[in-house]
Amino acid sequence: MAAVAGCFASLGAGNALAEAGGGLAPSGTPRLSDATCMSRCVSARKATPGATVRLTGSYLDETSRVVFKGASKPVAATYKSRTSSSVEVVVPAEATSGRPLVVSEDGLRSNPSPSVLEVVPATALPRQVFPVRGSHQYWAGFGDGRGHQGADVGAACGTPLVAVAAGTITKSEYHPRAGNYLIIDLKRSDQDLAYMHMVEPTPLKVGTPVSAGTVVGNVGDTGNASGCHLHFELWEGEYYEGGAPVDPIPFLKSLEPRAKRK
Ligand SMILES: [Zn+2]
Repeated sequence: MAAVAGCFASLGAGNALAEAGGGLAPSGTPRLSDATCMSRCVSARKATPGATVRLTGSYLDETSRVVFKGASKPVAATYKSRTSSSVEVVVPAEATSGRPLVVSEDGLRSNPSPSVLEVVPATALPRQVFPVRGSHQYWAGFGDGRGHQGADVGAACGTPLVAVAAGTITKSEYHPRAGNYLIIDLKRSDQDLAYMHMVEPTPLKVGTPVSAGTVVGNVGDTGNASGCHLHFELWEGEYYEGGAPVDPIPFLKSLEPRAKRK
């Protein structure tokens, strides 16, 4: 930790409090609890230059800039949006892997984000496409007051479903709630994707490699589904084997064909 803090101390302006040391931080000092990549991401903690990253924590509504680690010196970026509990920022081209921090309008600086945000070249970005090939609308989101582990994307039954990115089908089963579902283990990240309520089981066998755009099935309403929709889950790590589902909506929205983005 000391090494990381030291590397940002060279930033200069607005560092008086940190340098004074010893004193109690004022209650309004920004605090970071996490940094998550939202779009142009290889995974939740692996961003590319130009990626949108969401920093979460407290006292963030007076953020003036976000400071990333750079090759030789810290790199600052102006926020894109901010609330008391989150700040969104675009990763600058010069940023390198590290723990970003925020600086408030009064020059108060936060702790470095507890988790390292890796910044990798855009060439590491897998080709990704939206999973539903047809008009669709967002229904229930993640959580939804009932522990909903994914996002429901309404679309006509029979609408083709495609693999978002290159990977392997690791599961194809029927479940009373999920209906016909499949799991894709993505090749270039630690993520797994779940597609549920498909009208028929996927025609692809477990172990089949897929690439972005490979048709894996069709929208249905099998299992416990009220209406034709894709229940889509994004897991960081392995599906039910050490991983955890995360909110897939920012990911899905970043994949929307531009003309259809609302
Ligand atoms: Zn659902």
